[in-house]
Amino acid sequence: MSAAFSDPVWQKPQTAPAFRFGFSAGGAFDVIIVGGGIMGLSTALHAARAGLSVQVLDAGAIGQGASGLNGGQVIPGLKYDPEWLLRHFGKERGEALVEFAASTADAVFDVIRDEKLAVPFTRNGWIQAAHTETALKAAANRDRQWRSRGADVKLLDHAEIAAMTGARGYLGGWLDRRAGVIDPLSYTSELARVASATGAGIAEQQRVVKLAKEAGVWRVSTQGGVELRAKSVVLATNAYTDGLLPGLAQTIVPLHSFQIATAPLPADLAASILPGGQAVSDSRRILVYYRRSPDGRMVLGGRGRMALPSSPSDWAHLERALLRLYPALAGIAIEKRWFGRVALTPDHLPHLHEPEKGLLAVVGCQGRGVGLMSALGKRMANYLASGDTRQLPFPLSPIRPIPFHAFRQVGVAAAITWYRMLDAFEH
Ligand SMILES: Cc1cc2nc3c(=O)[nH]c(=O)nc-3n(C[C@H](O)[C@H](O)[C@H](O)COP(=O)(O)OP(=O)(O)OC[C@H]3O[C@@H](n4cnc5c(N)ncnc54)[C@H](O)[C@@H]3O)c2cc1C
Repeated sequence: MSAAFSDPVWQKPQTAPAFRFGFSAGGAFDVIIVGGGIMGLSTALHAARAGLSVQVLDAGAIGQGASGLNGGQVIPGLKYDPEWLLRHFGKERGEALVEFAASTADAVFDVIRDEKLAVPFTRNGWIQAAHTETALKAAANRDRQWRSRGADVKLLDHAEIAAMTGARGYLGGWLDRRAGVIDPLSYTSELARVASATGAGIAEQQRVVKLAKEAGVWRVSTQGGVELRAKSVVLATNAYTDGLLPGLAQTIVPLHSFQIATAPLPADLAASILPGGQAVSDSRRILVYYRRSPDGRMVLGGRGRMALPSSPSDWAHLERALLRLYPALAGIAIEKRWFGRVALTPDHLPHLHEPEKGLLAVVGCQGRGVGLMSALGKRMANYLASGDTRQLPFPLSPIRPIPFHAFRQVGVAAAITWYRMLDAFEH
């Protein structure tokens, strides 16, 4: 991570272990995982449970990527609703994908329960809040599709959403009770702890700089000069993907997501703001998302500039959004400001690649990867253990760099400014 201004609300407990280098098995493994975020660690945990020898290497500290910095909203589903997935992927794969998408929040709460992870969480749902009639219609359509599949979801009218959020300006919304909130840094650290206890090696401060295949075995070299061998390598570097695998970084558009956290709210305000502890994303094109933290703060996030932030004023747009929703919070201090990177793909779906046998890569969560990567890690481990591609919910696709990738970010920045203006008009 850069030395830019960033002061996250999520803090590692003093007791969190550091993961040191220390290799067994003569440096040869069934699987080496590059990247120790939720994707890498979930894969490691399930692969170790399946009896594979596993080593995770992260360029920095566990949790320093998006996994330890995010909003902690555990939301099932993909960007697309069930009917779109069926149309796009056909009946068989489409149905399997819908089932997978429906299960991604379970993947988080099940592992917290089954592995007894010490992670603060609340599972009372996620609200997609609608501020226009169009957004309300989209919510009704989504509700119909998921309800017909037996999902625990509900449309909210104006009075219901006002009571549940305490926020101004929504016409209604959609409640998905499968969802919840966690402390994302605790979750990532705890995944590392249990993966390690299950037998996976985890090493921090080990940037992988070279991959080469010799006689069917992958040689993985780190910046510090260590060389390890593995039958399979999984690149779980996502928005932080560097040049390790040529072309991979050019398949995604990395964007910054910024967040702020207030001081813990006084009791009178706390009683009327998200009293049920739900997470919220609103329907604006450049959306904001928010929740309460376990220690009673409001935590709100949204897109931020691509240049690295250098002063608190770089988060001013989020402070304005917070006060627009909750004017009563005027005067409550903003105590934390931080940011991280998310990876977008042009089709808004995660991409799975296997450019050569035994070399796998996963990128692109469109800013919603806590549940997705937890579930995908388990499927990836199943695939590594069985070699059966039906374990993977998404088809393996070729690495296709985005044309004119270098200019893409400029385009995204211009689009964000334009969307913010449209949102301001609609407000
Ligand atoms: C500010 C913010 C808010 C978000 N809010 C939410 C939310 O509320 N809900 C939700 O579902 N999702 C949210 N997301 C998205 C979510 O955090 C990500 O989709 C998810 O954490 C991705 O996990 P990952 O393991 O794939 O990647 P990461 O956690 O980013 O891990 C990638 C790791 O790869 C390592 N790495 C990179 N290159 C190398 C190399 N060469 N060698 C070794 N290691 C390397 C990095 O150090 C990093 O630790 C948010 C993201 C951000 C940034």
